[in-house]
Amino acid sequence: MDQSGNISENTDVILIGAGIMSATLGVMLKELEPNLTIKIFERLDGAAAESSDAWNNAGTGHSAFCELNYTPELPDGSIETVKAVKIAESFEESKQFWSFLLQQQFLSDAPNFIKSIPHMSFVWGEKNVEYLRKRYEALKKHHLFKEMVYSEDKKQLAEWMPLVMDGRDPNEKVAATRMELGTDVNFGALTKAMFAKLNTTDGVDLEYGHEIRDLEQNKDALWTVKVKNLGTGENRKLTAKFVFIGAGGGSLPLLEKSNIKEGKGFGGFPVSGQWLRCINPAVIKRHQAKVYGKAAVGSPPMSVPHLDTRMIEGKRELLFGPYAGFSTKFLKNGSYMDLPLSIKPDNIFPMMSAGIKNIPLTKYLIDQVRQSPEDRLNALKEYLPTARMEDWELETAGQRVQVIKKDPVKGGVLEFGTEVVSAADGSIAALLGASPGASTAVSIMVDLIGRCFKTQMQSAAWQSKMKEMMPSYGKKLGKEPELAGKIREETSKVLGLVVPETV
Ligand SMILES: Cc1cc2nc3c(=O)[nH]c(=O)nc-3n(C[C@H](O)[C@H](O)[C@H](O)COP(=O)(O)OP(=O)(O)OC[C@H]3O[C@@H](n4cnc5c(N)ncnc54)[C@H](O)[C@@H]3O)c2cc1C
Repeated sequence: MDQSGNISENTDVILIGAGIMSATLGVMLKELEPNLTIKIFERLDGAAAESSDAWNNAGTGHSAFCELNYTPELPDGSIETVKAVKIAESFEESKQFWSFLLQQQFLSDAPNFIKSIPHMSFVWGEKNVEYLRKRYEALKKHHLFKEMVYSEDKKQLAEWMPLVMDGRDPNEKVAATRMELGTDVNFGALTKAMFAKLNTTDGVDLEYGHEIRDLEQNKDALWTVKVKNLGTGENRKLTAKFVFIGAGGGSLPLLEKSNIKEGKGFGGFPVSGQWLRCINPAVIKRHQAKVYGKAAVGSPPMSVPHLDTRMIEGKRELLFGPYAGFSTKFLKNGSYMDLPLSIKPDNIFPMMSAGIKNIPLTKYLIDQVRQSPEDRLNALKEYLPTARMEDWELETAGQRVQVIKKDPVKGGVLEFGTEVVSAADGSIAALLGASPGASTAVSIMVDLIGRCFKTQMQSAAWQSKMKEMMPSYGKKLGKEPELAGKIREETSKVLGLVVPETV
């Protein structure tokens, strides 16, 4: 016990938050360095209870097969595919790591967390059809998208997605692309399975109902972390060589408390979400795909509407959304004071200038919150013309905190991606932002380990372990058609997914 009555403990690593990011990092570090001691703290009573929970996210294994916001149309009319290729590569890395965990019997039940489901993009109107055709032609040339098919034929489209085509104006121009290799991922089940196994591993200790309240770097470069047991009120202090702030929406306030200079000037812009969940089994049965549309003009990329078949707790579900909204909470189980309390002298200017530039976005989000049930039904009817209100229920989705960054020219910019912020000495890292999210957890953590464990990562032992966990490590699958094909086939077999050759 120290002078203030706090219990003091030492550990190599502290992971803050029990979401998919901490789970992935914890498992990787333990594979790379089995003697490492790791303590994990989660403020809620279980793992994956915020964004990583199956009901709180869309469960799309983001591979850029169907998400149109990853392939913008350039001013010259051509389609930009760089981001799409990068996201597809990242998801292949995730599948390799999950396959490794299954082969090592660290995970046991692939169908419990990943399933094949066709990924489709669907558009209507002359201009959008033209865009989709050009997107298809641009992507189809790339080996990671070669199985993509395109159709404007209404009969074909009705076979692919009967519910979407039923009751539609026969004169309307429509088109869709389809990738059989798409997936639905239950990130919640995957996270829980990883923590369940991690918690039985020597040197790992996971404590629920414990909130990290403060953190400070000591003169000897170790971190002192203050944790409160929310059940008993007991406070403890722990010291660690490395801290990961994997607190999802709660990462920004903790990054601010760490006081590292690399964390200065960041702000957060919270976006809430809702889904319509189908409660009519007959309707659920008639849809078998993830159908992504085009975002409304002026809306943020995360509000692209989609009609999704999901597999949650062994049951087939049908969800439509998300309807984005604005709330000042940073976590679903957070406080309305989260946003105001995150404003500090070093981020007030970036936040204000990003706020001023994004007034239309804020207005859009507030309008979304104000939507009536009829407004929501009308949005659904654009995808499912025969929809009836009594078949659907409103559910609250997870909270996303978009990153606001200092910008030398614009003052502050709002970004929709993820950002790893790490100290120059590699002793602490935080993950901000939420997109493309859980699907890219593996590549995010590989990048983070490379930054924070530089010396160890260069060792022969770590290099060889990285290749064992991810055979494509050090290579770009987007540039290696043969390797990509081989790896895709192998991981599909291990994970029980549609195998590319059979498509
Ligand atoms: C509506 C929506 C749809 C999405 N759709 C997709 C999708 O289709 N595909 C995809 O790949 N990704 C998607 N995402 C993104 C994905 O869900 C997230 O990127 C991912 O779950 C983030 O994981 P995480 O571990 O960083 O955070 P979380 O899962 O939120 O976990 C953070 C944990 O930290 C805990 N915590 C916070 N503060 C503290 C503290 N001080 N002390 C202790 N614990 C703390 C929280 O309670 C929480 O359990 C979506 C997200 C949302 C919100």
